[in-house]
Amino acid sequence: TRAHLAAMEKAEALNAYVLATPDKALAMAAESDRRIAAGEAGPLEGIPLGVKDLFATEGVRTTACSAILDNFHPPYESTVTHQLWRDGAVMLGKLNNDEFAMGSSNETSAFGPVVNPWRRKGSNVKLVPGGSSGGSAAAVAARLCLGATATDTGGSIRQPAAFTGTVGIKPTYGRCSRWGIVAFASSLDQAGPIAKTVRDSAILLRSMAGHDPKDTTSADLPVPDFEAAVTRGVKGLRIGIPKEYRLDGMPAEIEALWQKGAEWLKAAGAEIVEVSLPHTKYALPAYYIVAPAEASSNLARYDGVRYGLRVPGKDIVEMYEKTRAAGFGREVKRRIMIGTYVLSAGYYDAYYLRAQKVRTLIKRDFEQAYASGVDAILAPATPSSAFGLGEKVDASPVEMYLNDVFTVTVNMAGLPGIAVPAGLDAQGLPLGLQLIGRPFDEETLFAAGQVIE
Ligand code: GLN
Repeated sequence: TRAHLAAMEKAEALNAYVLATPDKALAMAAESDRRIAAGEAGPLEGIPLGVKDLFATEGVRTTACSAILDNFHPPYESTVTHQLWRDGAVMLGKLNNDEFAMGSSNETSAFGPVVNPWRRKGSNVKLVPGGSSGGSAAAVAARLCLGATATDTGGSIRQPAAFTGTVGIKPTYGRCSRWGIVAFASSLDQAGPIAKTVRDSAILLRSMAGHDPKDTTSADLPVPDFEAAVTRGVKGLRIGIPKEYRLDGMPAEIEALWQKGAEWLKAAGAEIVEVSLPHTKYALPAYYIVAPAEASSNLARYDGVRYGLRVPGKDIVEMYEKTRAAGFGREVKRRIMIGTYVLSAGYYDAYYLRAQKVRTLIKRDFEQAYASGVDAILAPATPSSAFGLGEKVDASPVEMYLNDVFTVTVNMAGLPGIAVPAGLDAQGLPLGLQLIGRPFDEETLFAAGQVIE
């Protein structure tokens, strides 16, 4: 814990942490020492972790990296973090993320961007770590924690993991409780870990997962021993390659890596088959209707009364307006505008309802692939490696959204997906491959992920 706290101080320029909690960390570590000496060690005893600022931490500032939650100290702990501390983990601090987890580069945070610890060969240009869990990914990659919590609504665990050479798993919707996690799009949000290795991510997920009566969408299923699945191998598994993921203009390196990943799995005993997910091309536009619609509804609660920031006005309506105008950043406002538009009476059927129908078709595509005997699907995690800071944010929101082309389908279908580092591109930057599994079959993802790692 001390070594990590010292490393965090030295690496402040990365801006991965928005709050360090050294006193709390040292007290938790001392308690771990005591439990170890008493023979009461939990499965994560003494393991120092970082927490995405989207998770409510009791008495510790939690802002979702938004000015509107300025100085909010929750009186409760999220279920996921509660379970990590129950199992002995130590909290180092709160990690930076895109404001309300809206973004793919960590550049929408009210605390400023996170810098990716990776650089292109022979260049000093600063790169983004991906988003929205950019702080989690950068902190793990720069060894500022042994693992981190993260959330994924449309790729926010898997894309930053791919951009930083780390492992990130978004479990099946319902596997981890959403209780105490600041809501973005409630039907898509899931928590999961970012870690250095497949095995570490399996160990962390086991503690994070499990049924929680406080979240009605939490699945009442036993949590498997994910760590045991890591060494299970892929002999006899059928891995599908979705032909619709072969995009025009995709870098040849990513195409080649994808091919290599299939060969590694084949060499380890898996059978590789082509599958079709015909509605893939509609996933991104449908996601960017469903997610803002749910976000606009979830964000209605920030009214200057209940949490954080309040900007006074001459009456309550003016107070609402001034608070929301000052408290929300540009991307969040854009989502509120899109969300309220697609939910409005005149446009609901044309946009929101249609997007929900597309969502059903996307889900059905996967169901058909799995019904044909495929155990998991192999795809790229991202359409490029990490890009430069400032290159895309605001200049082109749509170009930023295109980053999520391989990840959003998984959230739309509620499936588990893991991003595993698979190699470097010609610029020396990490590239990730993604495995997508059957509902509640994270174990196969750990087994296949281990073969690729
Ligand atoms: N980049 C996507 C978005 O901005 C996904 C974010 C996420 O998964 N939280 O909505």
